[in-house]
Amino acid sequence: MAQSEDHLFGVYARAPIEVERGEGTRLYDRSGREYLDFVQGIAVNGLGHAPQVLIDAMTEQAKKLWHVSNIFTIPGQETLAAKLCDASFADQVFFTNSGTEAVECALKLVRKYHTSKGHPERIDVIGFEGAFHGRTYAAVTAAGNETYLAGFGPRLPGFVHLSLDDHAAIKAAAEAPTAAAIIVEPVQGEGGARALTDAELTYLRQLCDDNGLLLIFDEIQCGMGRTGRMWAYEHSGVTPDVMTIAKALGGGFPIGACLATRDAASGMVVGSHGSTFGGNPLAMAVGLAAFDEIAKPELLENVRKQAGYLKQQLEGLKAAWPDMIEDVRGKGLLVGIKLKPNNREIMGLARDNNLLIAGGSDNCVRMLPPLNLTEADAREALARLEKTFAAARAKARETA
Ligand code: PLP
Repeated sequence: MAQSEDHLFGVYARAPIEVERGEGTRLYDRSGREYLDFVQGIAVNGLGHAPQVLIDAMTEQAKKLWHVSNIFTIPGQETLAAKLCDASFADQVFFTNSGTEAVECALKLVRKYHTSKGHPERIDVIGFEGAFHGRTYAAVTAAGNETYLAGFGPRLPGFVHLSLDDHAAIKAAAEAPTAAAIIVEPVQGEGGARALTDAELTYLRQLCDDNGLLLIFDEIQCGMGRTGRMWAYEHSGVTPDVMTIAKALGGGFPIGACLATRDAASGMVVGSHGSTFGGNPLAMAVGLAAFDEIAKPELLENVRKQAGYLKQQLEGLKAAWPDMIEDVRGKGLLVGIKLKPNNREIMGLARDNNLLIAGGSDNCVRMLPPLNLTEADAREALARLEKTFAAARAKARETA
């Protein structure tokens, strides 16, 4: 029986599971019931639940020092930032506590960049349909999802929303004298595991170069190894000027970061931005341990291998269950399944069959297993998904 939640804001439609404990791919509720967790905190637990390497890093640091203000030098920040820069296009990093704060930092950075270059009028950030960038006022405005914006009063100025397919409108917006930046997820997560094509990313890069805009990649969900490379942009060879990351960077500990080239970050001078908690010693200890694990070539190889297996098997299920699966999409272990029945209904039936999967726009469900997934667990998830489909088919027959 779910406990009442009278004292919490009613902003979530929560699954009726009272979670207690996790271990790798498994999540257990208070009654001891076991679930195969292919949500993993929505792509946060890159190493699964309670990985020993993160427990060790956290407990060791917890005995030494948890928190000091950013007015002091925190050595772990420079160490982790250097690793992130060595592994990416970036030269500099700002640490935050969440994804949306990393996006907030990126949005402030682009305006400060243009102001510092003598163009304070360049404030417009171009975002795309299906995007999700988090819940701060600027991040929801950048993504432009009406559902998340309704009722919150006037919109922030300086944001343009376009369809990724409308090339003429994108070109016109990028050529406007007030244009500042383009923000895009190389693989849209909440938008239904939609991977942009290399041609789309190349086109956006070209528009930015031609018109002096900064290109922001939001890799909060698709970065940190999720697609089988450290960063999703690596598949295309297109590099951004700014990138936001979070989720698997902390493996479950709240960490985010905004990465940028030295030039893009040149407006971010003393006093222009800050955070009380961002990059504190405890966060950096866990982030360093998580980064070192995920950067291992064998882990990234495992992502590619398991992703290939899942994709192939799901294509087989699509043929076997044409009344259930419309399309299999995504990249790496950000797997999207566009369904024929209602996605919420399938998520509920999957839960009844001890499988946890996430939702997504466009009637998708997402499978976001840990990056160290084994083939045995992938196979077990597919078996539980088939049981779910069988239950959905039986239910449809009953109501027909
Ligand atoms: N950007 C993307 C692509 C995301 O998937 C998310 C979270 O799902 C965010 C931003 C917001 O991150 P957070 O919820 O940590 O603020």
